[in-house]
Amino acid sequence: VCPTAALTEMYHTDKVWEALSDPDKHVVVQTAPAIRVALGELFGMEAGTIVTGKMVTALKRMGFDAVFDTDFGADLTIMEEASEFIYRLENNKTLPMLTSCCPAWVKFIEHQFPELLEIPSTCKSPHIMFGTIAKTYYAEKNNLDPDNIVVVSIMPCIAKKAEAARPELTKDKRNNVDIVITTRELGAMIKEAGIEFDHLPDSEFDRPLGETTGASVIFGTTGGVAEAAVRTAYEWITGEKLKGEDVVFKQLRGATGLKKATVEIGDKEINIGIASGLGNARTLLEEIREGKSKYEIIEIMACPGGCIGGGGQPYHHGNDEIVRKRQEAIYREDKNKKLRKSHENLEVLKLYEEYLGKPFGEKAHKLLHTHYEERERI
Ligand code: SF4
Repeated sequence: VCPTAALTEMYHTDKVWEALSDPDKHVVVQTAPAIRVALGELFGMEAGTIVTGKMVTALKRMGFDAVFDTDFGADLTIMEEASEFIYRLENNKTLPMLTSCCPAWVKFIEHQFPELLEIPSTCKSPHIMFGTIAKTYYAEKNNLDPDNIVVVSIMPCIAKKAEAARPELTKDKRNNVDIVITTRELGAMIKEAGIEFDHLPDSEFDRPLGETTGASVIFGTTGGVAEAAVRTAYEWITGEKLKGEDVVFKQLRGATGLKKATVEIGDKEINIGIASGLGNARTLLEEIREGKSKYEIIEIMACPGGCIGGGGQPYHHGNDEIVRKRQEAIYREDKNKKLRKSHENLEVLKLYEEYLGKPFGEKAHKLLHTHYEERERI
């Protein structure tokens, strides 16, 4: 179920089929990092089986015009979030900076801690950043009318359905993401289409919004966003390269619900708090409210274990072993990637060069950042 308990499950697969059957629509799909390590479970595979290539083939056979990766949006998020963090650190602005990828947690702070709304990063979440770029840069590059592009997000998450409809996240009254479906809904669609998933060959994501790095893959698990941000902030602040397995910050890893760690970046010690599950988030937020927080960065994910344990994933009925296997698969996928830092993603760099300008600059800010609002206490 949704961790906010505010949403019940609604299937939106009919909307996706409708878009796919409309010859006037250009339908692009993006898949979140946590999907690829869980989707196979719906087809009898063991938890933690990585099915990225089969998933891409299935989506192409279902008729999507382009199959892209939310990981591209995650790399873009790190370009913005690491820039925002360094800006705040070097200009004595508000710290800690809280990550903002998880809409259930964003809603939680808006309702429960409205006095802290200056603290979260203003970055939109990766799939919303992706949708924004699909309807601007990608539309212009391919001479497409943004009104004819339908962006479908496949997410491990039910809260992302409500996030896509937030008025702050629309542009010119147009949704950046049109339809959100979960891992379970994708599984149902693949079965409905009569595709024998386990027999599919592998395919690659389309370009240019399909290049990704290991840093973006680890967004799928608790601690991953903080680790990805640290990889980039470390190199940008020190000017030194993290080589080989030095990119792995073990102190930020694991499935524990509340982690506290210190990372040395040059002559600075950066204290990082990581919470998964809203009870643990409350603990860190109360420390901030009481002026006792020692952190420079805090990552919060509403679901225990992060998105791998999300409410839209194949049911795991509280079986920690399943979540652990998905997490190990995420770390394996990171290790297998040629590029492991977001700022090395060449297609993201090209996007800045051709369209956005500087990370955290004026145009990037306009397109990729958002704001938060106090909501009625519940
Ligand atoms: Fe959604 Fe991930 Fe947040 Fe869970 S942790 S609510 S799956 S974004």
